[in-house]
Amino acid sequence: MLIVLLSPPGSGKGTQSRRLVGRLKIPHLSTGDMLREAIRQKTKMDHDVADIIRNGQLVPDDLMVDLVDFRLRADDCGQGCLVDGFPRTLPQAQELDRRLAGRGRQVDLALELRVEREELIRRLLARSELEGREDDGRETIDRRMEIYRSQTSPLLDYYRRQEKLFSIDGMGSADEVFARICQVIDEYNATHRSDD
Ligand code: AMP
Repeated sequence: MLIVLLSPPGSGKGTQSRRLVGRLKIPHLSTGDMLREAIRQKTKMDHDVADIIRNGQLVPDDLMVDLVDFRLRADDCGQGCLVDGFPRTLPQAQELDRRLAGRGRQVDLALELRVEREELIRRLLARSELEGREDDGRETIDRRMEIYRSQTSPLLDYYRRQEKLFSIDGMGSADEVFARICQVIDEYNATHRSDD
């Protein structure tokens, strides 16, 4: 099952993804983690990715699509994958669909975690204290939220039109949110597994 997780910064994508892959036994592909790792390893890239991330902006689409597509073609993703943080723009989603279709595959589910803005900001500021992520400063948080609204949220409609979107209440404890996600996945499996 190929799942994409579309949610604003601070919505708990990382936490919930790690739990979910443990349950579904599929790999977790976090584009933010991949980029941070590439920076740590000093991997040569065509763009100054460290600078882009620090400023809360988006890494160019072509680089992101190549990165994700390359990872999705690996053997361990044969049974599916949970993609967290990608796609973040309409061109990324369209190009992903095009490349997957070329291999007879598709995105099965798009999950959205819905969290109120004040709670997102509270969580991101708390994470900034705890983990010291450079892009969790107040000004950068506002920029990332605005980019989510303008560039990523149109994807909700894109997947809704394909009848793949499931929106989940992301307020409450990590356990409560995880239980809601599992319920959606279980219901999806109950209705779709028989058509495989
Ligand atoms: P995340 O850990 O998902 O919040 O991602 C951290 C940062 O990595 C983002 O603010 C972007 O700068 C960059 N990034 C991650 N995924 C993408 C993507 N799909 N498209 C463009 N930039 C991305």
